[in-house]
Amino acid sequence: MSDLISTEAGLTVDQVVDFLGAHEWYDNSRIETQDGCKRKGFYQQVGPTGVPLHKRVGQGADAGSVLHAAHEAYYTGWSVLSEERRRYNSFGVLEDTYRELFKGGASANRHSLRVMRDIWDDYCAKCLFEDPFYRPVDPEVGFIIRIAPRHGERSFNPFWYTGRADGIWERVTQRDFFTGELKSTSGGAKRRIKSLKFHRQPVGYVAMAREAIRQGRFVKGITDPMAMQGTFAIVIAVQVEKREIEREYFPLTLKRTEDWRRQTIRKVEDWRARLREHRMDPASWEEIFDQQTEECTKYGLCPYWDLCDFGVTADSINEFEPDSWNPLLGSRAMPQHTITDETFTGTIHLTR
Ligand code: SF4
Repeated sequence: MSDLISTEAGLTVDQVVDFLGAHEWYDNSRIETQDGCKRKGFYQQVGPTGVPLHKRVGQGADAGSVLHAAHEAYYTGWSVLSEERRRYNSFGVLEDTYRELFKGGASANRHSLRVMRDIWDDYCAKCLFEDPFYRPVDPEVGFIIRIAPRHGERSFNPFWYTGRADGIWERVTQRDFFTGELKSTSGGAKRRIKSLKFHRQPVGYVAMAREAIRQGRFVKGITDPMAMQGTFAIVIAVQVEKREIEREYFPLTLKRTEDWRRQTIRKVEDWRARLREHRMDPASWEEIFDQQTEECTKYGLCPYWDLCDFGVTADSINEFEPDSWNPLLGSRAMPQHTITDETFTGTIHLTR
C-alpha cells in the first residue's frame, strides 16, 4: 500500500480516516453495492447486529490490486528516474504486493506470480512508445469531497464522497487533463473498456475532480474545472496465453458529471430513507433491504451468500470481520492542521 507524503489541501490520511469514522460518507463501492442488492448493502454498511460486516474479495480482485500497485510504482519518479529504473521498481512492488495478498497461493494459473509478472512486463513494453504523449501528473490521487446544496439548489443534508483514482494524466500535445481508471478483467479488454465510458466510478472521479478544482483544492495550476476533460481508461486482461491491454480517453461533458452528482444525491437520499425506516422498525430489515438475486453470482459467489442461505445466526455472523475499509486506508502521514466539517474537502497525493 501507499504512504502519504503530502497533501494539496493540508489533509492527512490519518485525519481522513478518523473523519470518515465519524461522518456519513459514500464511495463508488458503497453506492454500487446498494444499487446492486440492498440486502448486500445492508450487510456491508449496517449489519444485522449494527456492526458492518467486511466484504471479502476474491483472487480476481487481489490480482487487480497487484496490478494497481505495480502501476502506481511504475509512474512514480516520471521524468526523474529512467524507464528501466521505474520498471525495476514496479516489479519489486508487484512481487511484494503479490506475496502479501496471495499468501495461500493462487487457485488459478492466470493469477500465478509468473503470469502476473509477464502481464506487467507486456503492459510496460506496449505503452512505452506512447509515453512521450502522456504525462502522469500524479500517479495516485485520493480525494474526499463534501457534497452540499449549491446556491439555488433544493435542500439536502450534506455528505462526503471519497475515492482513489489511478492518477491524474496530462495529454502533452493538447495540454488537457484526465483522471486515470485502471481495471483488470478475466474477460475481453475491448468490451470492458467500452463499459467504462458510462461507468459511475470513472465519471464520479471526474465529477469530484471538477468539484475540487472549483473549490481551489486540486493540483496546483489547474483552475478551470473543464480542464479536467474526462477519463483515461486502462484495461489489462488477466489471462495466461492471450494478452489484451487497452488504453482509451473518454472526454466527459459538464452535463455528464452534473448528472452523476444529481443521481448520487438521489441515491444517497433513497438509502437514508431506508435507514430511517430501519431505525424506526429494526425487525423489518429483511423487508426494507430487499434482495436482488441476479447479483448473487455476478462476480463470483456473493460474500454474504451464507447469511442469505442459512439465515443470520451468531455463528454465521462470527465468520465475518467488522468492516472498517475505506478507499484511502493503508496510507499514513504526519498530522498537519485542524480541520472542520466545512473545510473538509481536498485531494491527497498518495505516493509510495
Ligand atoms: S447472496 Fe444475493 S441476495 Fe444475498 S446479499 Fe448477496 S447478492 Fe444479495
